[in-house]
Amino acid sequence: MRKQLTAIMFGTLLLAACGNNKTEHAGNTQAVIAKDMHTLSNADSILIKHLSLDLTVDMDSQQLYGWAGWEIENTMGAQSLRLDNHDLIIDSVLVDGVAATFSIGAKQEHLGAALIIPLLKESHKVMIKYAASKGAKALQWLAASQTIGKKQPFLYTQSESIYARSWVPCPDGPGIRFSYSARIQVPKGMMAVMSASGNAQQANDSGIYHFEMEKPIPAYLLALAVGDIRFKAIDERTGVYAEPEMIAKVANEFAEIGKMVNTAESLYGPYAWGRYDVIVLPAGFPIGGMENPKLTFCTPTVIAGDRSLVNLIAHELAHSWSGNLVTNATWDDIWMNEGFTVYFERRISEAMNDKTYVNMLWELGYQDLEMAVEDFGKDSRKTWLKQDLKGKDADEGLSDIPYEKGALFLWLIEQNVGREKWDAFLKNYFATHAFQTITTEKFLDYLDKNLLKGDSALYKMLDVNAWVYGPGIPANAPRAAMERFEKVNIERAKFLEEKSTKNLNTANWTTHEWLHFLRKMPKDLTTDQMVVLDQAFHFTTAKNSEIADLWFVMSVRAGYEKAYGEMDKFLSVTGRQKFIIPLYEEMMQTGKVEMAKAIYKKHKTNYHPLAQSKLDKIIK
Ligand SMILES: [Zn+2]
Repeated sequence: MRKQLTAIMFGTLLLAACGNNKTEHAGNTQAVIAKDMHTLSNADSILIKHLSLDLTVDMDSQQLYGWAGWEIENTMGAQSLRLDNHDLIIDSVLVDGVAATFSIGAKQEHLGAALIIPLLKESHKVMIKYAASKGAKALQWLAASQTIGKKQPFLYTQSESIYARSWVPCPDGPGIRFSYSARIQVPKGMMAVMSASGNAQQANDSGIYHFEMEKPIPAYLLALAVGDIRFKAIDERTGVYAEPEMIAKVANEFAEIGKMVNTAESLYGPYAWGRYDVIVLPAGFPIGGMENPKLTFCTPTVIAGDRSLVNLIAHELAHSWSGNLVTNATWDDIWMNEGFTVYFERRISEAMNDKTYVNMLWELGYQDLEMAVEDFGKDSRKTWLKQDLKGKDADEGLSDIPYEKGALFLWLIEQNVGREKWDAFLKNYFATHAFQTITTEKFLDYLDKNLLKGDSALYKMLDVNAWVYGPGIPANAPRAAMERFEKVNIERAKFLEEKSTKNLNTANWTTHEWLHFLRKMPKDLTTDQMVVLDQAFHFTTAKNSEIADLWFVMSVRAGYEKAYGEMDKFLSVTGRQKFIIPLYEEMMQTGKVEMAKAIYKKHKTNYHPLAQSKLDKIIK
């Protein structure tokens, strides 16, 4: 996933005791199940095989209901099957065709309540008739007016971290995998797509769609989107989905995704999922992208018109290896998923651009990491790679720490062992652990046996413990060469010195150069300086969402009112939390409380329920 939260959100630091998830017991269900504090299921004592969904999507009443069927083997003779459930409305349960008396466990903060179904040793099929509740956290129901085309309503899901349980009763932990099939009934004329095989390339007349995910996946990768959706092929195995009004633009923006898949394969081995498609969703989508297998879900904020933000697709594609193929066992191990993905994403980007280009990405990532460490505090437990999320919201792990510190750690290893050895190691790592689950400890053990091999000088150079089980940014952190950003620094200094843009040389700057130019401006820019910059570079009307968002944050800080109208528009059509949360936070922090409240009130319903619940805590 790219990227959900800024570190700022989590407020003051909380020193917690070190979590220890080293207990691994190989059950008959999975190769490895570490103790996952964010699931109430007992999937470690029952073999969970397959999920069959038969669901109806009623757009008018905004209801999703039907049947979830679980094929299981109760080889250990468990007395009940416990599934995760967050406010589902359970109508009835059948076990091997016979009505069962189910119960709902006590509701727990962040987790929901277990659905408990009595079993016999020979039980093998559990059918649950249910509906998702109105406020289901994974679901965003958009009225026609909230879509790009404004003609038909739209629905999409976001299951990561633990929201699958709000639309499917399931064992909802990243360490539990199952295959699935689905029959989805939608209003006639609309199309349904899922993280599975069988996605149509044209809407059918019946409104009934069938899907099959043959490979075992964890619940957080269950995904569904329904709406007025069109398809356009890029090449034989890749293509794009979007609303009709967007499809041509999207196909143009993502014209290189076929090449991107080839590049990724040349780095770390075959793509394991068959097709690779991308769907661009309406503006309310709360995150950058979600790596739903076979079908990345993506924010429209990357459609910049000049392919300058396609890096996000490199990230989601890289998850097809790191995360989807080899999955973190618990949310405490999220760096195994996101850190590897950021590293892999930058390797794809380097192969498709050049070293000076990717050096800018490394540097911007380093700046993000510095900001996160500063927000948490440099000694904070939250800045360890191995997280400790017991009793907390699983989403709290999704800060820049696992992403950027994780990627930096892998880059450090690469630099110390050499790229050739490191790439061979990684390729093997993905092949050896394909469709399996991995803990931090299991990875370190594998690293030790297959790469470091007891080399004590190498251990000392890497200082693995400082990275994984220590705070802040370790002293041996690598830093990218600044060849292109040093030129930007010179131009910025010139602007500050001359108070004019007349002599600036910004020819051929990419988004990344502009971001660095603006990010490192002094915090106390005057409105006069803002006017000069805006007149020369038209930041207020920038089409590029990364640049526009940063400019609006600076405008709020400087009280540059000329940008407020465009900022209001931006906030009405952008639901991506990475953008909207810092912007509202800046308004609150600079005393523009009434402005924040008024804008939020207008656009609140355009945002995903997850974004709304976070903003409700900020704007008050
Ligand atoms: Zn990601």
